[in-house]
Amino acid sequence: MSQDNQNRPWGLYIHVPFCASKCRYCAFYSLPSPSSDLVEKFVSALACEMELYRDCGPFDTVYLGGGTPSVLDTEQIYLILNSVRRNFRIEPGAEITVEANPADISPQYAAELLRSGINRLNLGVQSFDSEVLKFLGRRHSPGDALASIKCVRAAGFRNIGLDLIYSIPRQSTDQWLRILEQAVLIRPEHLSCYELTLEPGTPLAEEFRDGQFRTDDETFSVLETTSAALAENGYVHYEVSNFSLPGMESRHNSKYWDHTPYLGLGPSAHSFRGRRRWWNLSSVEEYTAALQSGKSPVEAGEDLKDEQMGEEFLFLGLRTARGVSLSELQHYGLDLVNTKTAILDACINSGLLRIDNDRISPTVKGMAVADALAKAFLA
Ligand code: SF4
Repeated sequence: MSQDNQNRPWGLYIHVPFCASKCRYCAFYSLPSPSSDLVEKFVSALACEMELYRDCGPFDTVYLGGGTPSVLDTEQIYLILNSVRRNFRIEPGAEITVEANPADISPQYAAELLRSGINRLNLGVQSFDSEVLKFLGRRHSPGDALASIKCVRAAGFRNIGLDLIYSIPRQSTDQWLRILEQAVLIRPEHLSCYELTLEPGTPLAEEFRDGQFRTDDETFSVLETTSAALAENGYVHYEVSNFSLPGMESRHNSKYWDHTPYLGLGPSAHSFRGRRRWWNLSSVEEYTAALQSGKSPVEAGEDLKDEQMGEEFLFLGLRTARGVSLSELQHYGLDLVNTKTAILDACINSGLLRIDNDRISPTVKGMAVADALAKAFLA
């Protein structure tokens, strides 16, 4: 295990399990339209949970994700951040992010978020096409998205991220590129471009049960086109779905990809330290009830063996432009150089991987098939 990563400052993730309504493609755990009583219980339960982990950290990133954290009012966000500061050491200059739905952003809301200490805002824009937003079941319009970005900039945020979704059925590559152009004109510091996937049990999966969704080849080609279009505009493709202006990568998300410790609070949140991974009860009612009665909300945990650590390291590393260290893989018993020579050579010769001293890293073409590459090495 990389000792360096273990000694780095932790990431703190807070899962806000509420949304105003449910999107048609979403399989995340979140409750639509929660009662104000439940939201208040959740905020108090979070404060109790933080007290259980006072020995963790220090932290240099805090991330309020969900769900939709912007369904909370700013007073509730203040309360959560005050509990964070009371219980943990937060490094100066920490990256403090909140995810927001564009429909929730007003000039006052944006200004108060900034005053609360949040310095990075990630907006779930998803598209600038009203038909696509309707298809996805989003509750905001393209106009809301543009207005929210203006508000956030006017409030003084210097680090904003936009989430977009591609590979929408019946959306041509040109239509997608026009969405991307609109995003680039805004010059967000960060762009996450996610492929739309059919998650079992969602209304979207139901709709496409018998019909054609799209082929993998189409998806790979759109990702390559996206990467090239964003590179022309100065964005670095640093992880399969993530692009940023130089130096503006998400510091928080990067911790998930190299085994840096992170603490997850809130229903269904996952944590990781050393070789230990643990996760919370996913039901918000069970989570709050456990903490109200002085019990831990942890549902279960596991200690990862060398083999699992190595596999994760490979899977996560091959999704990033930085790639993965061959000697660290060897440390977990995965000796690619001596036992997977043929696959390694084939990947390098076909332009999927690069090798540079101790590291293998995917090219853009390789990133588009990162999971398949990792599986090929583990077969
Ligand atoms: S806002 Fe996000 S978490 Fe909530 S339903 Fe939509 S996709 Fe899921």
